[in-house]
Amino acid sequence: MIKKYFSFQKLNGISLYIWLVLCILPFYFVFHTSSTVKIIIGIVLTVLFFIFYRIAFLSKGWVVYLWSFILMTISITTTSLYSYVYFAFLLAYFIGNIKERPAFFILYFVHLISTSISINYSILVQDDLFFKQLPFVVIAWISVILLPFSIHNRKERDQLEEKLQDANERISELVKLEERQRIARDLHDTLGQKLSLIGLKSDLARKLIPKDLDLAKSELKDVQQTARIALNELRKIVSSMRGIKVKDELQRIEQILAAAGIDYKVDIGKEFGKISLLSENILSMCLKEGVNNVVKHSGATACHISITQEKDEVTLLIHDNGFFKSGESKGHGLAGIRERLEFVNGSAEINLDEGTSLIIRVPNDLKKGEDH
Ligand code: ADP
Ligand code: CA
Repeated sequence: MIKKYFSFQKLNGISLYIWLVLCILPFYFVFHTSSTVKIIIGIVLTVLFFIFYRIAFLSKGWVVYLWSFILMTISITTTSLYSYVYFAFLLAYFIGNIKERPAFFILYFVHLISTSISINYSILVQDDLFFKQLPFVVIAWISVILLPFSIHNRKERDQLEEKLQDANERISELVKLEERQRIARDLHDTLGQKLSLIGLKSDLARKLIPKDLDLAKSELKDVQQTARIALNELRKIVSSMRGIKVKDELQRIEQILAAAGIDYKVDIGKEFGKISLLSENILSMCLKEGVNNVVKHSGATACHISITQEKDEVTLLIHDNGFFKSGESKGHGLAGIRERLEFVNGSAEINLDEGTSLIIRVPNDLKKGEDH
């Protein structure tokens, strides 16, 4: 069961050692006492503590209070009988993990008060073993004060991040839906109209052939022209269906930055626009990931986005005034950016002067005359 608990907590490195020590240490204190009865009681209490501790993590609602009070009672007992205070540390960890605010605050204060009283009691009775480990007792007491809050805050931040991600996904779903509706509207308004015009005109031409050949010819010419225009429009609609446009992505990003309370400035050269569909798609993806990172990691208050298009290359710059947090990456965002940029011989670079700048370059690969 303990093994299961460890995997559940995703323990790694140093925290594994801390947990191991906290599991073995109580037995050392228990065996320190002389009477056999006390030793047996101590072992039972310790084992019960760990079992209840595991159950407490799984419980919900008012039962959380029940288990917490039982655990606190065991902790107070071991503090006064065996001078073992460190269950208070485990309890602080547990309380930090309680999501509901009222339960968190109530249990936090009850635990703090009960731990303080039991520590004071042990000092009053001038327990020898207790005085020997006084510095550690002080550390445990400080962690009872601070640990729950730091865990609680971290949990809240994680939840906010999750919400932000959900909102992002919803926005992109909505953007997709809107895009589909726009395409349907475009098809109806442009192609639909042109096709019915072609139908009418060719019908007219058929009727005109026996009567007025010249007029029939001119009508047929109209038909041909309309068909050509329709084909061009079809191409435009199809190309706009493929992938995300940078301009659309920018709109979405502005919403996200505004929601995150980050000041933003977007500079796009007027000339930006003529770029191959693949490059545009990849730029949009980089833009999205870059800005997501600013919101998620940078802690910035301002963000500057610029796109400049020169003869040979397009440069996308995402600058924020926060701090780059290296070494804690679990994700594949930046790696994904680099992988995709390889397709178009682009490059990504991070510059850490005054905040973080992500600089993306893609070749300006649209041949002259190619249009979309
Ligand atoms: P993920 O976002 O999933 O953690 P990424 O590959 O996108 O993975 O980012 C790697 C890491 O680089 C992040 O975890 C973060 O620590 C750091 N990072 C990236 N962009 C920024 C930024 N704008 N500000 C601060 N840290 C950043
Ligand atoms: Ca990321």
